[in-house]
Amino acid sequence: MILVIGGGPAGLAAAVAIARNGQEVTILDSAPRAGGQYWRHRTRVDGYKSEKSAMYLQEVAQNPLIHFISGANVWSASRVKDGFAINYLVSGNELTVTAQKLILATGAFDRSLPFAGWDLPGVMTPGAAQSLLKGHGVLAGRRVIVAGTGPFLLPVATGIAAAGGTVVGLYEAQSPLRWALSPVALLLNPSKFAELLYYAKQVRKYRIRIQFGKGVTAFDTHSAVVSRLSSDLEVVAGSEEKIECDVVAVGWGFTPDVTLGGILGCAQKVDLDGTVIFNVDQNQRSSQKDIWIAGEATGIGGSDLALVEGEIAGLDCVGIGISPSLAFRKIRKTLFARALQKSYPVGNGWKKWSRNTTKICRCEEVSLQDIADSVTDLGAFDSRTAKLFTRAGMGLCQGRICSRNVSEIVAGLQGCQVSDNERIGYSNRPIATPISLGELSDGKSTK
Ligand SMILES: Cc1cc2nc3c(=O)[nH]c(=O)nc-3n(C[C@H](O)[C@H](O)[C@H](O)COP(=O)(O)OP(=O)(O)OC[C@H]3O[C@@H](n4cnc5c(N)ncnc54)[C@H](O)[C@@H]3O)c2cc1C
Repeated sequence: MILVIGGGPAGLAAAVAIARNGQEVTILDSAPRAGGQYWRHRTRVDGYKSEKSAMYLQEVAQNPLIHFISGANVWSASRVKDGFAINYLVSGNELTVTAQKLILATGAFDRSLPFAGWDLPGVMTPGAAQSLLKGHGVLAGRRVIVAGTGPFLLPVATGIAAAGGTVVGLYEAQSPLRWALSPVALLLNPSKFAELLYYAKQVRKYRIRIQFGKGVTAFDTHSAVVSRLSSDLEVVAGSEEKIECDVVAVGWGFTPDVTLGGILGCAQKVDLDGTVIFNVDQNQRSSQKDIWIAGEATGIGGSDLALVEGEIAGLDCVGIGISPSLAFRKIRKTLFARALQKSYPVGNGWKKWSRNTTKICRCEEVSLQDIADSVTDLGAFDSRTAKLFTRAGMGLCQGRICSRNVSEIVAGLQGCQVSDNERIGYSNRPIATPISLGELSDGKSTK
């Protein structure tokens, strides 16, 4: 059996490639519907190139060789004699499936940076605002500020405006002139100009005010502090202004989800942007036999790159050679992914946005002061030792949100850089999804 974990663009493209070559494939995805982070929706995807998603979603729904299991949260995986045992939860029931070949397409999640007030109601990530809208048809607020960095802010802001919300401001921390650093990537991806044009029209249609070099650096109920920022995200002194709003949707790019591949021992490395990703070859093979990895888990690159990688993984998995045109498409999209990293860097100036009382780990309510004390008074020297002293990263999210920030803060206090080993260490956890002892002890059904 071939099993794909993750039903976003990469997982869907892999499954379609496998089924088109006559083999059966099962997809497990924790979301209620196929499509992943970008294409998740109730009936149709509004936005750029929605017809591409329609093609994949339709084929997955109609091809009898593709079995899609939604709401299936894979919480652990292990290699067994005849393949891989994959344990997952569906509606509180624990099930196990055995697969001979695995394609991991687990995607990414929003990266958040702490600032004073980021733990208050009214602060969320752009992904959360978009998920409310696409997944549930709910507006995050009436007056919304969208801020942070990266092109993803555009679909979020225009989506909110199209649904009737007021986008009080769209604050992109970096300058658009940074794209000049990547002329080759732009020339090789002319379709991106069409996408930019699409969003430019949407921005004009909904009269969204975009300001560059600014970001949300504090929030209090119904008002945000917007500051001018250097390219390293340092606040320019005296530039702060208060802006009334109900909600701020703030995001700083994405963090690849490497948990499942990590559990299965797939080799990882640190990408240029400091994120931990999988080391795969040109055919998306991981360091572990019979495991392929595609999409954002191999590096943040957008849905087009995820589609190409998914197709390559699916074809290679069923023993079909990769055509030169598909390989070239991957090169073009990878160059664009590099350009994204150069255009939207996340510097370390954010460390000064927090007050001493600001919670850096929101699950365990650990403040900046607690972390600083663990370094200066108790001798913590990395995120792991700071975690043992303070419990930062021990809560429900298991450090998915805070561990990178804790690590950067501890390194900053010690005047050093975070090592690659530490980055890989905090990105991995032995259990992919929280599971209650009750669910575990209820016993399991086997498929
Ligand atoms: C919150 C968010 C919103 C985004 N919105 C946009 C947008 O509007 N426009 C745009 O151009 N790009 C957007 N992106 C970027 C875009 O999602 C990616 O470029 C693209 O979707 C990557 O595809 P993927 O298949 O690699 O991963 P994803 O689309 O992230 O799909 C991964 C899938 O794996 C599933 N999964 C992960 N772990 C498990 C597990 N343990 N068990 C079961 N299932 C699991 C997830 O539920 C998810 O459905 C967004 C990204 C995020 C994180």
